[in-house]
Amino acid sequence: MKCVLCNKEIMVRLTLRDIFWSREILNEVACKDCVGQFAHWQAENHCQGCGRGGCTKGQELCDECRRWNQLYGWYLHHRGLYHYNLKMKEYMHRYKFAGDYRLRKVFQTEFSTHIQRVAADYVIPIPVTTVTWQTRGFNQVVGLLREVPYLPALKVKAREKVNQSSKTRQERLLTPQPFTLEMPERFKQKKILLVDDIYTTGRTLYHAADLFHQADCAWVKSISLAR
Ligand SMILES: [Zn+2]
Ligand SMILES: [Zn+2]
Repeated sequence: MKCVLCNKEIMVRLTLRDIFWSREILNEVACKDCVGQFAHWQAENHCQGCGRGGCTKGQELCDECRRWNQLYGWYLHHRGLYHYNLKMKEYMHRYKFAGDYRLRKVFQTEFSTHIQRVAADYVIPIPVTTVTWQTRGFNQVVGLLREVPYLPALKVKAREKVNQSSKTRQERLLTPQPFTLEMPERFKQKKILLVDDIYTTGRTLYHAADLFHQADCAWVKSISLAR
């Protein structure tokens, strides 16, 4: 089998555990060299909001999350699995913009395991626009889910763009609400987990979370593959 990222042949050294858990082998789609270039976030001194490391001791929220907290009166408990480093940027580019759907498998199992650990009533993926759907052919967030029941309750408003990559930071923060929530009454007192591929400024996820808070949910948390 070849690595989906570098095309090198993957050498599989079978251990006893692999033989008994043959499922693990089937999931290996990227070689160890490639996998080793992605960097996990470490859990030390992380911000209680966005999960970013390096928060000084005794300070629960980083400056950005404190601003969100002032704006909304609540903050999002977010966790990103990986740093958005060069390797991850390259990965996202090939997966999303070149539309290489096979690449979803690199993180599918790990990402889905983290999602399932959160005791949410509903897993809600951030949607893509109709235009993106038509050109790419898939929602990159849904592609990362494996055996995770999810509800596509968020819809992108017509003429709004969710593509944030061409905007400056300031422009992104001022973006108006791009989503609508279908049948908001069903989320009353429910626990919501929002799922996205990348957390950049938090703007998109805060817009989405705001709709669930307005619907009187019990809580909203969020998770992304990268941040
Ligand atoms: Zn590789
Ligand atoms: Zn933060």
